Amino acid sequence: MDTSLKRDLIETVALRIIAHADELSALDRAIGDGDHGLNMKRGSEAVLADLDGLAAKPLPAALQGVGMTLLTKVGGAAGPIYGTLFMALGKALPDDPAPGDLAPALAEAIVAVKARGKSDVGQKTMLDVLVPVQVALAEGRDPVAAAMAGAEATVDMKAVRGRSSFLGDRSVGHMDPGARCAALMIGAIAEVVRRQA
Ligand code: ADP
Ligand code: MG
Repeated sequence: MDTSLKRDLIETVALRIIAHADELSALDRAIGDGDHGLNMKRGSEAVLADLDGLAAKPLPAALQGVGMTLLTKVGGAAGPIYGTLFMALGKALPDDPAPGDLAPALAEAIVAVKARGKSDVGQKTMLDVLVPVQVALAEGRDPVAAAMAGAEATVDMKAVRGRSSFLGDRSVGHMDPGARCAALMIGAIAEVVRRQA
């Protein structure tokens, strides 16, 4: 994968998160402590600060670098989860990945995220986006539609992990901020891939 494509991917995702930071914090205000947008914005800005350095690395190392940065800069529950996701993705992908490598790599990363968060699908977290996206990729369906539907489906779920679980039944009726954030990332990645094709 060439440096300019890696740069475009990393930059587009980071800028997308920053542009939606207020929306993500508003979602987190409804069922959490209102910091998810700010947390992810801080992590995204740290990633952008090293954009050229990250893009110059082979894809696995670049993803691990993104994961390390998110782990140390995002904080909260999302920092370790996103850190795990990107580091595990980097570990699972070969230096020069083919499109078909993505679904199995994401499956491995999801296993790592579940272990890290002691969480699974249906618990109103970003896994409710990541898992349907992985299935869509494996089955050759549109990952963006799966991501948006996955985030939407968290509205009716009751949170059983993370801060929003303290609300119990009152967490129902609101979209999970982490799921929305993951869907934004998937949308941004797909846009870059489409531009490339
Ligand atoms: P905090 O809850 O510490 O304030 P954030 O607001 O940044 O952290 O992130 C909250 C998001 O993290 C949630 O919306 C959810 O998607 C995700 N999350 C929280 N706990 C877990 C978990 N155990 N497994 C997976 N995702 C989680
Ligand atoms: Mg929060």
